[in-house]
Amino acid sequence: MPPSTPHRKRVLSGMRSTGKLHLGNFVGALDNWVRMQDQYECYFFIADWHALTTDYADTSRVKQNSIDVLLDFLAAGLDPERCTMFIQSHVPQHAELHLIFSMITPLGWLERVPTYKEQRDNITEKDLSTYGFLGYPVLQAADILIYKGDFVPVGEDQVPHVELTREIARRFNAFYNLHGRAVFPEPQPLLTPAAKLPGTDGRKMSKSYGNTIMLTDPEPVVRQKLKTMVTDPARVRRSDPGNPDVCPVGDLHKIFSDAATMAKVNEGCRSASIGCIECKGWAADALVSILNPMQERRKKYEDNPRLAWDILEAGSAKAGNVADATMNEVRESMGMSLEFEAKPGAESGK
Ligand code: SF4
Repeated sequence: MPPSTPHRKRVLSGMRSTGKLHLGNFVGALDNWVRMQDQYECYFFIADWHALTTDYADTSRVKQNSIDVLLDFLAAGLDPERCTMFIQSHVPQHAELHLIFSMITPLGWLERVPTYKEQRDNITEKDLSTYGFLGYPVLQAADILIYKGDFVPVGEDQVPHVELTREIARRFNAFYNLHGRAVFPEPQPLLTPAAKLPGTDGRKMSKSYGNTIMLTDPEPVVRQKLKTMVTDPARVRRSDPGNPDVCPVGDLHKIFSDAATMAKVNEGCRSASIGCIECKGWAADALVSILNPMQERRKKYEDNPRLAWDILEAGSAKAGNVADATMNEVRESMGMSLEFEAKPGAESGK
């Protein structure tokens, strides 16, 4: 298939509207997205319908959560001049394509998605035995394919979802075509280097563990959270040597600190010439220097929320145009176009 544009390949990615984002979201996705803006034609969306698959009972926060995600997108450095940002439900063509795909997707494909079973087993406080939850990857396929995305930036664990999107594209193309031409390209996963970002308790940073450092945390909160962060368990006393390679604070340094600080940490920890409090202070310095400019950028939009909403409206309009063009092709390939068509041989207009 030809690329979506002659110059730049198209990248698609979304984030659920879970509210304010944390450093794990930044390291795991946003930081990469910011770098991709100039290399690719990027569409980044806030997946509010996806949030409904698990939080359908109480929707009172969904809209504000979406706006909070947008503010963190902007804070992290996504630039509306260089990428397109929008809320999924503002481009309803996603839902139309989802419906078409749901007709052709075999149930067995969805039941074998690893995250389906895993989440059903792990999220016990919610009833996930819904049609929407099972169909989550079909909606994801629609999200990607409606823009004919060339690449989808994902971590290793999301690769099966992209593979399912490719299978759905293949199946659609096998049933329907546009005068012999396939409607959908098969998007490729763009594997993003997944740096290990521990939360304050040493487990993976996640809101559900309550161990996050938020992009909006003010400096005193960041420093306080760092103070309580777990360290190498071998350093019981100040005089015990430690190992930054097995310490969550060491992991933070590897991601955020410069080479000189990293050298001080490595040497000082292993020889017990520094204490953990001092070491955590350096980690906090590094975090604060990254978070401060983000918080300044965020403030501009917090003070003027209309500015942020305008960005969403412009993004939805642009995304909607692309989605419309794709839906026209989808309908035409299925012989279901919205255009008037005279019966062959019949006189038109009579
Ligand atoms: S000195 Fe730093 S890297 Fe070493 S155990 Fe303490 S906090 Fe971790």
